[in-house]
Amino acid sequence: MAPALSPTRSHHVAVIGAGPAGLVAARELRREGHSVVVFEKQKQVGGTWIYTDEVESDPLSVDPTRSVVHSSVYRSLRINGTRECTGYRDFPFVVRSGVSRDPRRFPSHGEVLAYLKDFAKEFGIEEMVRFETEVVKVSPAAEEGIGKWRIESTEKEKKVRRDEIYDAVVVCNGHYVEPRHAEIPGLSSWPGKEMHSHNYRIPEPFRDKVVVLIGNSSSAEDISRDIARVAKEVHVACRSNPADTFIKQTGYNNLWTHSMIESVHEDGSVVYQNGKTISVDIIMHCTGYKYHFPFLDTNGIVTVDDNRVGPLYKDVFPPAFAPSLSFIGIPWQVLPFPMFELQSKWIAGVLSGRIPLPSKEDMMIEIKTFYSTLEVQGIPKRYTHRMGNTQFEYDNWLASQCGCSETEEWRKEMCLANGVRKEAHPETYRDEWDDHHLVSEAYQDFSLYS
Ligand code: FAD
Repeated sequence: MAPALSPTRSHHVAVIGAGPAGLVAARELRREGHSVVVFEKQKQVGGTWIYTDEVESDPLSVDPTRSVVHSSVYRSLRINGTRECTGYRDFPFVVRSGVSRDPRRFPSHGEVLAYLKDFAKEFGIEEMVRFETEVVKVSPAAEEGIGKWRIESTEKEKKVRRDEIYDAVVVCNGHYVEPRHAEIPGLSSWPGKEMHSHNYRIPEPFRDKVVVLIGNSSSAEDISRDIARVAKEVHVACRSNPADTFIKQTGYNNLWTHSMIESVHEDGSVVYQNGKTISVDIIMHCTGYKYHFPFLDTNGIVTVDDNRVGPLYKDVFPPAFAPSLSFIGIPWQVLPFPMFELQSKWIAGVLSGRIPLPSKEDMMIEIKTFYSTLEVQGIPKRYTHRMGNTQFEYDNWLASQCGCSETEEWRKEMCLANGVRKEAHPETYRDEWDDHHLVSEAYQDFSLYS
């Protein structure tokens, strides 16, 4: 077994970030008896769900000196999963009575933010948060004792700088801030405008333009339709589409899906693998994000390599530092909030010594075995943390460690059914559904918490 800090002891724990992960981490750590300080660089809780019209000065978000805008949320964004599946397990995302907000089953981003504020209020989280305080460096502080961490932070536009020692650090800084870009032959001499979806807010700047979006994520799906209302033409290019793909989207006379771009040229043209050539004004990279921990200094023990954060036992603990350093929210293609809740419970219980961890050696063996399995299956490193349907097995494993009930059957079935509906009816899945029996089951469960 790895040396737990001190069995059933409470610790002084720093949580970095007050988004959905940091909020539930703070609640679970305090429930377990730890003392908690949450560092949050913004003025309020909610993380990515704090919509802002502001965008970065560099539309591609590559300039390292740019001032970073945290949220990538666009104005028209509605959640892509049902509200029943989206909420934390024991604080359901129901329409709260007496408050007129967005009662839709797939509400707008503002409703998620309001829900997170309700959560923070209900559990008194804000009293643990230091707002407008950015963590600038996290490093091991061995001279202060085994497993201790030094946290350097700056408050209110760098006017106050603090240097403090904590027993443990839980990293919840969000992973949709540092963009990834597509590499396309000819881009350096292509005369058009390039941007990343991180800096997309509203369709108006695209009026009468010819726009290419690269990617097949929810963002590319939503933004292409948003823009098609005003743009001259919208073309979506995606590397996972077969080379001959060329599909006009039903319901639109200006929206097409293509295979990937082959090259771009000095005359402004874009050539696709399907043989089409189109003169384009703007290319928008909807190509996702990189894990980024600019404050973390572990002497190269924890690294990000081709978007693999490692080594991490069960996507949470780096064995060399377990249990005093942990990460919440690394897996993707998941239902994030319920998973954050279970990861938080696990971390809190492991830190207090109530839940045992395997030895560092055994954790490393498991991680290496997992990496080998991915390699044998031909899965690239950058997909290490993609879960999809295996999320439920993972969540249930966490639940078993924490002594909690497994993922509710309705949540699993609803999530899978929504995925199928989204794929088949991207236009309408947020407003038309037929899983009423699952909704009833969900609300029966929710009545336990109201
Ligand atoms: P975040 O919400 O990003 O919060 C991280 C927090 O850490 C922020 O408040 C940030 O200010 C703070 N922080 C970062 N660095 C520091 C530092 N150094 N010091 C102090 N504070 C720091 N999920 C869904 O469930 N449904 C959806 O429909 C959905 N749609 C999405 C659409 C878009 C465009 C994006 C980008 C994401 C979407 N997601 C969706 C995923 C979403 O990111 C998660 O739901 C969730 O917000 C992640 O929570 P988090 O706490 O890990 O990160």
